Parts: sequence; C-alpha cells; structure tokens
Amino acid sequence: MPEADRSHVIGLTLAAAASGLVVSAGALAFGAFTLWQAALAAVAAIILGLITTLPWARDAAALRARSRAIGEGESAPLPAARRTSLGGDLARALIESQRRVNRSLQALKERSVKVERVLDAVPEPLFVVDIRQDVTHANQAAEALVGPSIVGRTLAEAFRQPELLDGVETVLSGAAPKASVDFEAGSAQGRSYRAIIGRLERVGGGGEAAVMTLHDLTAIRRLEALRADFVANASHELRTPLASLVGFIETLEGPAKYDPEAQAKFLGIMREQANRMTRLVQDLLSLSRIELDEHSPPGHTDDLESLLAAIVAQLGPVAAARPATLEFSCATPLPAVMGEPDLLQQVFQNLIENGVKYGKSGGVVTITAAATPDGASITITDQGEGIPAAHIPRLTERFYRVDVARSRNLGGTGLGLAIVKHILNRCRGELSITSKTGEGSSFTVWLPPPIDS
Ligand code: ADP
Repeated sequence: MPEADRSHVIGLTLAAAASGLVVSAGALAFGAFTLWQAALAAVAAIILGLITTLPWARDAAALRARSRAIGEGESAPLPAARRTSLGGDLARALIESQRRVNRSLQALKERSVKVERVLDAVPEPLFVVDIRQDVTHANQAAEALVGPSIVGRTLAEAFRQPELLDGVETVLSGAAPKASVDFEAGSAQGRSYRAIIGRLERVGGGGEAAVMTLHDLTAIRRLEALRADFVANASHELRTPLASLVGFIETLEGPAKYDPEAQAKFLGIMREQANRMTRLVQDLLSLSRIELDEHSPPGHTDDLESLLAAIVAQLGPVAAARPATLEFSCATPLPAVMGEPDLLQQVFQNLIENGVKYGKSGGVVTITAAATPDGASITITDQGEGIPAAHIPRLTERFYRVDVARSRNLGGTGLGLAIVKHILNRCRGELSITSKTGEGSSFTVWLPPPIDS
C-alpha cells in the first residue's frame, strides 16, 4: 500500500478509536461507568473502529489507486476493491467506465490510423499547417517531396516561394476561405506546381489551420509550351512560301506582266513553293493522324522484305535525280513485325529519302535488313557529311533541322523524323542514329514481332 494510502487508513482508524475514547471518557465522567468499564469500552471502541473502518479505508485506497491508473491511461484491468458493498459498487462502476474509456480510446486510435492511411493514399503532396504556418501533418507524397522531417517545422523551411506563403497566410488569416497559387520549384525551378489551400476551422479545438495540396503541372506546362512552339513553327513554315507566292503574283501582275521569259521562270518557282506547302500540310496531317492513333495497337507486316524491296523500287527515280544508288540487302529471312505496311512505308520512305537528300551526290545509300533474336532490324546508311553529335538527340523533334536552309532547299519540312519516331512509338519499335562527320550517317530501326505471334 502506498505511503499516502497507509496514512489515510491509520487516520480513519484513529478517528474511529478517538470517538470511542471520547464516549467512554464521557460515560466515566458522568459516573455511568467505573474506570474498568470505561477502559473496556474504550478498547471495544478501538477494536470496533478498526473492524468497521479498515475495509472502508482499504477499499478507498484501492479505488483511489485504480482511478489514478485510469487517469494515467493504464488499460490493464486492476483487481477490484470488494471489502465493502459500497466499495464493490464503486469498483464495478469504475471498471465499467474504464472499459468505456478504453473502447473510445481504441476507436479514436483506429480512426486516426484510418485518416492517416487515407491521407497517405492521396497521390498529391498534402500538408496541414497551424496558425503559425508550422507543419502539423504531411502525407507520404509530401514527405517524399520535401523530406521526412518537415512535421514540426515551419512551411517556409520547405518552400521559399513568397507567393505560396502569402497564399497560406491569406487563408489562415480568414481573408479568404481558399486560395490557389501557381509556383515554380525544384532544382533550377524546373517544376511547376499549383497549390490549393483550404481553411480548416478549429481542428480538434486547436485553433485555425490550413490544408494545402500540391498538383504537379510540369507535364501540362511542357505540353502547352510544345503546342505553342508547334503552332508558331507551323505557321512560320507556311508563311514563308505563302509570302513568296504573293510576291511573285504581284511581280507577274506588275513588272513581269509582258515578260514571257520571266513569267515562265516565276511560275516554276511558284509551283515549287506550292509543292512545298502541300508537303508541309501533308506531313502535318500525317503527324496529327499518327498522334491520334498513338495509343491504339497497330497491325502487323508479315512480309517486311517485300515491303522494303517495293519502297526501294519506288524511290529509284528520286535516287536517280540526286544522283544516288540504292542498295538493298536482306541477310536472313525476316520475321513478321509490328506495324501495318502503310505505317512502315512512311518510316522507311522518310529514312531512305533522307539518305538520298543528305547523302553524297553520286554516292550509295545501303538498306540492310536482318532478323534479330527479338524482331528485325533495318539500317539505312548514307555517305553524306554526317551529323554533329550534339544535334543527334534532337533530330526527332518537330521542325528540328541541323541546317534549316539546306533542308528547305532540298524540299524538307523538318517533320520526317518526328513522324518516324511517333510511328515507332506506336509499334513499340526503336530508332538509333549514329553518324561520323565527313563519313555519313546510319539510321537503324528495330521492330518487335506482333504481340499475338
Ligand atoms: P527534313 O524534312 O528537314 O529532312 P527530317 O525530320 O527528316 O526533316 O530530318 C530532320 C533533320 O535531320 C534534317 O533537316 C537534317 O538536318 C537531319 N538529317 C536527317 N537525316 C539525315 C541524314 N541522313 N544525314 C544528315 N542529316 C540528316
């Protein structure tokens, strides 16, 4: 028994004995008892006091210990005090309230674990901040973004963007119930985010707080920039031949109105410009069609060798005009490959035409095909000036050209390799480019077998 409880028991017992002594002394004083009788009555009072108060005192001590344990969050059941019936009743009531408290605590714990799991399942980073902008909760995505030790620190330690912190302040101060802030973050501010901040009023009675989720807009922003670039490039490409056409029309109507020689010359140039615009529009349409279909599975080509031989034959006149020689060889029988003939025709036609265009005048363009352990590979090699290494990774971007003037003079649109890349993406194929300046370039296409083969 603890010291305090023991003194409590002794105190109660002494009080009972003292009251017995007072009664005995009173009886002696009034002559009702002899000295012996008074002494006997006093002893009886002490014994009676002990018998009646000791169980009460012990029960009280046990109940006190029990309620203290409950108060301290002890959940293991403690022995009940049952020396008196009142003590037993109190103990039972205490046990019942302890059970209820335990059940509520357990339910609260489960709820808090559930809430934590739900917040962790939110894929976007989520932060809860208190009125001082200290982070009181961060889900897994938030910790992955700014580090696991953010809880307990101020938001400004993770985000240095004043516009974001101002947005949080606006919500916390009650000036607005929610706010949305776009900001750049990451190394060299490479990523774009939109923060949505909402007010949480008196969470758990703990005063105002705000919840902030971050949405990564980087991919959308890049797409927007790409689209804007694309529109600018496409209009620029169309505007140049159009301006030239308008210029020649004005010349034909004015100074060259009665000059048949100049008229013939200008009409030839106009035809060339009109053809260029047609090619550009065709390439733009074909690129947009390929992009639309990019995620639907392509068909397949069973006889790739015959398809390649046919393309080489069709391009004979183009090669002869350069002049260049096309040499096609197929080392091993080719398997069926992913991609319907129409799509593969565009791939190889673009690559062979490029080999002719940028290859050496009077040179040879070789087309070699072979089966590989997992599909087929086709390499187109020319003997041209080659491509400086720095340009190679960007060649498949739309309108990217090593030498814009040269490409235009040769009738290029700057879209051929972009079309090739998109078709190969759809066919789950690959394109690799190697080049040696002054010696030539090789474009290798790898195509996998059809999925169902
Ligand atoms: P273009 O219509 O300009 O030929 P492409 O998309 O087919 O457009 O090619 C993009 C650029 O890549 C070309 O402008 C050219 O600079 C370069 N290129 C493509 N093929 C070759 C090649 N075989 N040799 C050298 N440069 C090439």
